[in-house]
Amino acid sequence: MNGLRIEVDIDKVADNARALVAQAAPQGISITGVTKAMLGSPALAHALTAAGVVALGDSRIENIERMQGAGVDAPMLLTRSPMPSQLERVVCSGATSVNTDVDVLSMLNASATSLGRTHDVMIMVELGDLREGVMPELLHDTVRHIAGLSGLRIGGIGANLACRNGIAPTDENMATLSKLVDSVEETFGVRVDVVSGGNSANLDWALKSDDLGRINNLRLGEAVLLGCEPLQRRPLSGLHTDAFVLVAEVIESARKPTKPWGQSGQNSFGETPGTEDRGTIWQTILAVGRQDTDIDDLGSPDGVEILAGSSDHLIVETRDRFHPGEEVRFQLGYSALLRTMTSPFVRRSHSVLHST
Ligand SMILES: *Cc1c(COP(=O)(O)O)cnc(C)c1O
Repeated sequence: MNGLRIEVDIDKVADNARALVAQAAPQGISITGVTKAMLGSPALAHALTAAGVVALGDSRIENIERMQGAGVDAPMLLTRSPMPSQLERVVCSGATSVNTDVDVLSMLNASATSLGRTHDVMIMVELGDLREGVMPELLHDTVRHIAGLSGLRIGGIGANLACRNGIAPTDENMATLSKLVDSVEETFGVRVDVVSGGNSANLDWALKSDDLGRINNLRLGEAVLLGCEPLQRRPLSGLHTDAFVLVAEVIESARKPTKPWGQSGQNSFGETPGTEDRGTIWQTILAVGRQDTDIDDLGSPDGVEILAGSSDHLIVETRDRFHPGEEVRFQLGYSALLRTMTSPFVRRSHSVLHST
């Protein structure tokens, strides 16, 4: 009996990475493999580098350090602006960091200078999704600021879309990014080698567009891990969508009515669920809950329908009685994957946890 666990088929992830690298190459696009959904797993890092990604990206310095500590020797990108409290670690890691704030840049420079090092930064430009990024009209000011900081070097310019507001990459906003890069080069007499157009949401655009402008890199997490395109959550053809499986154990299975009885108020999550009466069903409880995963982002097998869940219980409808100890296997979306990988209660399959 193995309990609650996530099984990872790292070979499927590697296949996906190889396929995406191969599809992007003719377009002149290099791939940075994003590892944050797997806590910077060294096994994933090795698989991605073997598949031909040019760099590894992670939002957490802890994960970058984990990969480096396990002997992963690839260029790294910190995909979130550094915390002022972690600047020394960021500089010491030798990773390039994405940056969006002039004060962080100044502090980062002070850190790099005092450590006697030069730190590479990728400036992120806001293109309308309204998460991170320098407003386009302030990009020149930011570049000028960096030019005056001897400890920093511009390692690239990038943008991120579709994370907060679901704003899609288009010819228009990508052309804006390209024009900004051109104007920075002209104004400051520098060369910007890496122009990172975005995340998995940019794949469709990047593979179809016949004018990529200056975009020559994408940072891919979800597409590699789940074989899925995030804007419409469409499976990408030829890619594995089942590299991750959440396995949970039955702890109760009983004939129960669908309509609750007694006086009703809110449940433990402040909701007042509907109470449609569908007669009596087989109600089965699995020992997994919101502490472990995003229960709204699981794909259940045939014959199992998710009805509800709380912190520790997932309530499903089954065709028959499922015996306690029986296991049910779920597919995961990106949100479920993130939550599952970071839950201390979910065992991760051996290859991911221990291998390097
Ligand atoms: C998470 C993240 C990525 C990867 O996103 P996916 O949708 O998983 O491809 C890329 N860039 C940044 C800045 C991110 O935060």
